[in-house]
Amino acid sequence: MKVLFVVIGKSLGNNSLLIKNADFIVTMDNRRRIIKNGNIYIEKPKIISVGKNIEVSYSADRVIDARGKIAIPGLINTHHHLSQTLTRVIPVAQNVSLFPWLLSLYDIWREITVKHIYIGALVGLGELLLTGCTTTSDHYVQHVPSVQHSIDVEIKAADEIGIRFHPCRGIINRGRSKGGLPPDDLAEDMDKALKDSERIIRKYHDMKKFSMCRVALGPCSPFSVTRDALEETIKLARKYEGVLSHTHIADSKQDFDYCMKNYGVSPLKLMESTGWLGRDVWFAHAILLDKTEIGILAKTGTGVAHCPRSNMRLASDNKMDPAPVPEMLRHGVRVGLGVDGSASNDASNMLDELRTCLLVHRPAYGVSSMTATQVLEIATLGGAKILHRNEIGSIEVGKAADIVLIDLKQLGYAGAMHDPVAALLFCGDSCRVHTNIVNGEIVVEDGKLVNVDEQEICEKANELARELVDKAGKRRGKNYLKQKWIRAFK
Ligand SMILES: [Zn+2]
Repeated sequence: MKVLFVVIGKSLGNNSLLIKNADFIVTMDNRRRIIKNGNIYIEKPKIISVGKNIEVSYSADRVIDARGKIAIPGLINTHHHLSQTLTRVIPVAQNVSLFPWLLSLYDIWREITVKHIYIGALVGLGELLLTGCTTTSDHYVQHVPSVQHSIDVEIKAADEIGIRFHPCRGIINRGRSKGGLPPDDLAEDMDKALKDSERIIRKYHDMKKFSMCRVALGPCSPFSVTRDALEETIKLARKYEGVLSHTHIADSKQDFDYCMKNYGVSPLKLMESTGWLGRDVWFAHAILLDKTEIGILAKTGTGVAHCPRSNMRLASDNKMDPAPVPEMLRHGVRVGLGVDGSASNDASNMLDELRTCLLVHRPAYGVSSMTATQVLEIATLGGAKILHRNEIGSIEVGKAADIVLIDLKQLGYAGAMHDPVAALLFCGDSCRVHTNIVNGEIVVEDGKLVNVDEQEICEKANELARELVDKAGKRRGKNYLKQKWIRAFK
């Protein structure tokens, strides 16, 4: 069928974009339409028209020929710790579970400065964009006393690279001397932390439709904050329209046992008793839940950021089944996908996260427990629901132009064109996206980041990672330097 472009006006400048002749457009609309040989017309920041034959009232300023490509809605990452990007694959932390993993890394994280936060964020955000993510959250928790405004640095990086950002102002306020796991110097004064949280909300939280930045609040975990911190942060978040609350729960037996020992209840029951349930709350992981607790999540509309690769990497404390996501979906729990921190993944690759989510549940819950369509739904509409963003997650008229084009003519997809949508999840380990568009702006073109120099960031990141490890080594002394993982850097 012939494509109809009606030109009845002049160009608006650098404002409009036409994606034409895409082999497939996976809309994720209510009917879950997949349009063959489709076109999308965009006037920043939104989609004006989608279909086989579309009528545009202005000639587009920019036209992308999408022949040979598939268009999908931008993927949504609901859990990350971007600052960990410079501390991935540290040898001593490669083969240990959550608590020893954290204890190995706190000594490095306490050395973080503004430049580490900035470059670490660019690395993680760049990886996300190159693998199809257009919106990401980040849970920043390690506020070292020498860095005043850590979140501001991340927001700057997100703005520069061009990703839609939901920074979550984390809090650690229970150091080792108060029975927590982190060292005391990573514990903040709670009043100061709350004041800073309020400052960030007032400065950056933008509730407008299509906004590029919305703030959430997030005490780190039951073993690194006090009960007061949980109660006070959620109270503060609920004072402001659209400020959501986020934390980790039930990701390991160690975390579960800590709650039982210190609070006498399971992690979810602790959350319930501190007001942490509702549509404005989402938890990272939520692995160790019983059926009643899954029912509580469903009933209260509380969301879950499922992070399969991180859960496998830390083995969630040995021999545990993966998070009961198939069960959650059956009960109607809102589920999104998260890559989690780069020190426990060790990547920010959204397409890989989808693939892992597709496969990880099969040994425990059955071969048909998770389909490609379900995973794509979690990673698009699921994430949008968790972050309360109705304007993202699908390719539809009036929605934000967050669109990813993937070249199907790559070796990773060769031989799989009988089901190109499923191919994106089952195959393609070696593939990057071709184009990534956020709010109508092209941020990845021909598989390259548009707004930053990838090579320069890599070099800087390696230099800063080495510096961090050296500093940690000096602080810990001679024996520490003799450890195998430190020698790897010498
Ligand atoms: Zn996390």
